[in-house]
Amino acid sequence: MKLETSLVHAGEPHIDGAVTIPIFQSSTYAMEQPTADGGAPNYDDIRYLRLNNTPNHVALHDKLAAIDGAEAGLVTSSGMSAITTTLLTVLDPGDHVLVQRGLYGGTFAFMRDQFRRFGITWTLVDATDASSWKDELREATVAFYLETIANPTLEVADLISAARFCRDHDLTSIVDNTFASPANFQPLRHGIDVCVQSATKYLNGHSDLVAGAVTGTAAQIDAIRHELNHWGGTLDPHACFLLHRGLKTLALRVRQQNATALALAKALDAHEGVVRVAYPGLASHPQHAYVSRYLDGGGGMLAFELAPEVDMPKFIAGLELALYAPSLGGPETLVVLPAHSSHAGLSPAQRAELGISDRLVRVSVGIEATDDVVDDFLTALG
Ligand code: PLP
Repeated sequence: MKLETSLVHAGEPHIDGAVTIPIFQSSTYAMEQPTADGGAPNYDDIRYLRLNNTPNHVALHDKLAAIDGAEAGLVTSSGMSAITTTLLTVLDPGDHVLVQRGLYGGTFAFMRDQFRRFGITWTLVDATDASSWKDELREATVAFYLETIANPTLEVADLISAARFCRDHDLTSIVDNTFASPANFQPLRHGIDVCVQSATKYLNGHSDLVAGAVTGTAAQIDAIRHELNHWGGTLDPHACFLLHRGLKTLALRVRQQNATALALAKALDAHEGVVRVAYPGLASHPQHAYVSRYLDGGGGMLAFELAPEVDMPKFIAGLELALYAPSLGGPETLVVLPAHSSHAGLSPAQRAELGISDRLVRVSVGIEATDDVVDDFLTALG
């Protein structure tokens, strides 16, 4: 099945003929009764909400796996829950991991603040320069963690080389595919081992829940689910239902977001009030050739730096459609200043090293009419 078809049909249980899966708002389920010979039921037969095995979870797991071309999928309570649980399953005390420089701030802060407590070491590398990775390998290196498109620099990692590198050096490759979404790139189909995502963003696409997703081999997902059951990162059935519903329109939404983001990037690039625009779909993007070859679109995210003569607060206040709010991937266009939000926890020097200035504006393009979105930014700049 093509992606658009899997999104609608994969994993649909059609319980009692229901075309749409209902919400199974039950924390626990009747199980096999004990027998006279004292035989205990199989642990796997226990169905309990925290164990991530209710009908709403199972249907989502099957759909997520089909979308990503994976053996198995897992839904979690947040993107961070998907990321942290995967890392703490793959990594043991004493292990070393290669990490892309310029990750999402929350993931970076988790590594910075928590890895030490688990005896895990890490080295930041340039994800666009495959020739630099080998020198950073250590005896203890077991994994490589990357993002398809980084936040908010819009740097595009060389995942094709990363998958090969990990195979050659017996490392587990883990990719956060949140920014690209499966509509633009499916890491597992390019040899990546484990894909994690914040389902809060494009997968759900309606800015009304927080969730995460992991896909990989059946053995990997089994191990990660076992860990997740300990940490307690389950998704509530109502949120499962909303995510399930949101997923069906992923391809339609992202196609519109790709088109609007490209139009907005071009319009901003041509405007004298803008110093530079970072968007993977622009020919000026450093990894544009790679993006054209391997991605199905540049995505709905872009960042631009305002010229010194533009009054930044006045520009933000002048936007009528776009809301000033964090997060991304929803139907409404959002803007944020990464220096005041996702990367506020970094020092000014760390931000400068990543190219995140105080005048860098990040945009999550929504599904409004393209012309309306472009007009909103040009009017505010004017
Ligand atoms: N990964 C990326 C790239 C993100 O942008 C975010 C949140 O903004 C996350 C992970 C964390 O997701 P969540 O907020 O669902 O925990």
